[in-house]
Amino acid sequence: MEDNFDLVVIGTGPAGEKAAVKAAFFGYKVAIIEKQALYGGAETITGTLPSKTLKETALFLSGKGEKGLYSVEKKLSQEASVKDFLYRKNVVMHVFSEQIHENLERHGVKIFHGKASFLDKNRLKVDDIILKSTYFLIASGSYPYHPKQVAFDGETIHDSDTILNLNKIPRSLVIFGAGVIGTEYATIFATMGTKVTLLHDKDSLLPFLDEDIIHALQDCLNEANVTVQMSQTIEKVEKHSDQVRTLLKDGQVLESEMFLYASGRSGNIADLDLDKIGLAASSRGNIEVDASFKTKIDNIYAAGDVVGFPSLASTSMEQGRVAVSAMFKINDLSSLPSAFPYGIYTIPEVSFVGKKESEMSEEFIIGKAFYSSLPRGKILGLKEGFLKIIVDKKTLVITGCHMIGHNATELIHFGCLLVLDKKTLWDVVGQVFNFPTLHDLYKYAAYDALSQIDQLPKHKKVIR
Ligand SMILES: Cc1cc2nc3c(=O)[nH]c(=O)nc-3n(C[C@H](O)[C@H](O)[C@H](O)COP(=O)(O)OP(=O)(O)OC[C@H]3O[C@@H](n4cnc5c(N)ncnc54)[C@H](O)[C@@H]3O)c2cc1C
Repeated sequence: MEDNFDLVVIGTGPAGEKAAVKAAFFGYKVAIIEKQALYGGAETITGTLPSKTLKETALFLSGKGEKGLYSVEKKLSQEASVKDFLYRKNVVMHVFSEQIHENLERHGVKIFHGKASFLDKNRLKVDDIILKSTYFLIASGSYPYHPKQVAFDGETIHDSDTILNLNKIPRSLVIFGAGVIGTEYATIFATMGTKVTLLHDKDSLLPFLDEDIIHALQDCLNEANVTVQMSQTIEKVEKHSDQVRTLLKDGQVLESEMFLYASGRSGNIADLDLDKIGLAASSRGNIEVDASFKTKIDNIYAAGDVVGFPSLASTSMEQGRVAVSAMFKINDLSSLPSAFPYGIYTIPEVSFVGKKESEMSEEFIIGKAFYSSLPRGKILGLKEGFLKIIVDKKTLVITGCHMIGHNATELIHFGCLLVLDKKTLWDVVGQVFNFPTLHDLYKYAAYDALSQIDQLPKHKKVIR
């Protein structure tokens, strides 16, 4: 059986779903292929939404957010069963998978289940069905890297996929990889009362963050009793009676109830038969693309994790949309914005946009504001966290916003507009915000920055 399409998309993750729906919305005949029973890829099934739901569940079950606030101490239900812990994650995963299914159907995207593999540059097959198309989008995502010295068993020695099917909440957990996934899970499990050891092969946590934020996050990990060890290399991880034994190159032996390997992912290309279309991928399975996400073959595009950095759901969906704009010459979105936010859903959250202090070549000033000083912060009992803005001293243009604290991943979006639109401190202090809100962080930080300028024009004297 053969069928003809304008676009065939491989994968229903954020890159694939958003691309398919956009092309269908503009009237093109679209098919999408998914090899798993559920829709949504890592975003919905193994990554973004499940881990974010576990974070909220850990906060809820532990009562961490309200500790000491209402003079009613909610005790961490140490007895909270793994069923309680995983319940919402499973609900969210199934509901959202169904929502993606409905979105595809509502837009008339034809759905095929099975593994897609190319036959040539205009045809691919899904089992015994052949689909012909003018354009293809490879949005096949990525999977967790498995080094051979780690004896993964999916029960006690996990990767970031299998940790979502825990059979109990571990009393102790060793995590290797202090990138986004490892650090998020370290804070989630520590909040659930697990004794966590976080190992990393580099000399800093999340080295792409501004240094002030790294230090603040490190303090939060210390406070949560997470033991952090940098510059460590794993020799072997294996099950030893009822414990997992982690041998490190420096001779240490760590024993824990569970182990999570969270370092590195590879592009999902194994099933695609890329050689049949003359397309090669890097050793980590990443496909090279240009700014419009076109591969070196004119009618074949790739987007999302399979093209590598930054490998986020947020950017993957926009990459898929940019690719569709380029294919069908829809004049709405030619590239990703020059600056976009990064969200790290640790407890507390971290988020940033734009330049960090070490990237400033111009003379700059820093404005800082603390959650604990804000009226809304006091109401919520927020003791930790701050916003740091980086400002070009000459022009007063805000070039970077860096946050750690409650809802930082939401609050950063105002900072994105400031950075993208090259807004100045005066634009911030001239706003009216609802009161009391956490957005006041921006005003407090702007006033803090302005107060450091010796020679303000008289009519712009800062009144706090
Ligand atoms: C633990 C974790 C937490 C994360 N947290 C965040 C976060 O907070 N924020 C954020 O923005 N990002 C986060 N991410 C990253 C985010 O999940 C990914 O960047 C995003 O899902 C990638 O989207 P994608 O569409 O490229 O691929 P995927 O979401 O992986 O989807 C690819 C789909 O293609 C299908 N597929 C693959 N090969 C074939 C084939 N041959 N035939 C048919 N179907 C195929 C797969 O089954 C899958 O459904 C997280 C990731 C992980 C692992």
